[in-house]
Amino acid sequence: MSDCLFCKIAAGEIPSSKVYEDEKCLAFYDIDPQAPTHFLVIPKTHIGSVAEVTEDNAAIVAHIFTVIARQCRKLGLDSYRVVSNIGEQAGQSVPHLHFHVLAGRDMTWPPG
Ligand code: AMP
Ligand code: ZN
Repeated sequence: MSDCLFCKIAAGEIPSSKVYEDEKCLAFYDIDPQAPTHFLVIPKTHIGSVAEVTEDNAAIVAHIFTVIARQCRKLGLDSYRVVSNIGEQAGQSVPHLHFHVLAGRDMTWPPG
């Protein structure tokens, strides 16, 4: 999608602070971190949110979770939270599928 912020980041048209990249996904630090460690993992192909995941495109989600587990191991994180907001009421501000990975502070449940 030509006007999608995260498609532009995935294409390298907008710079990001990269944590990890391969042909299918990109992980980069959140510009407005909500924890000492806060990065996002996105598919390089446009999917609007978890609400658009289907049997046909779900493999990227499994791949992203392997990336999250490996990167967190590399960063020495043994406790962290993975969050994906879907839709306006849940707080989604960028309509391209992304998983927040947050770590390094005490967290509460339920989230606000
Ligand atoms: P959400 O609000 O769940 O859709 O998450 C979108 C996230 O993207 C927010 O945490 C923003 O801080 C983050 N964000 C927005 N623009 C950028 C950017 N250019 N680089 C890195 N993170 C960004
Ligand atoms: Zn996109």
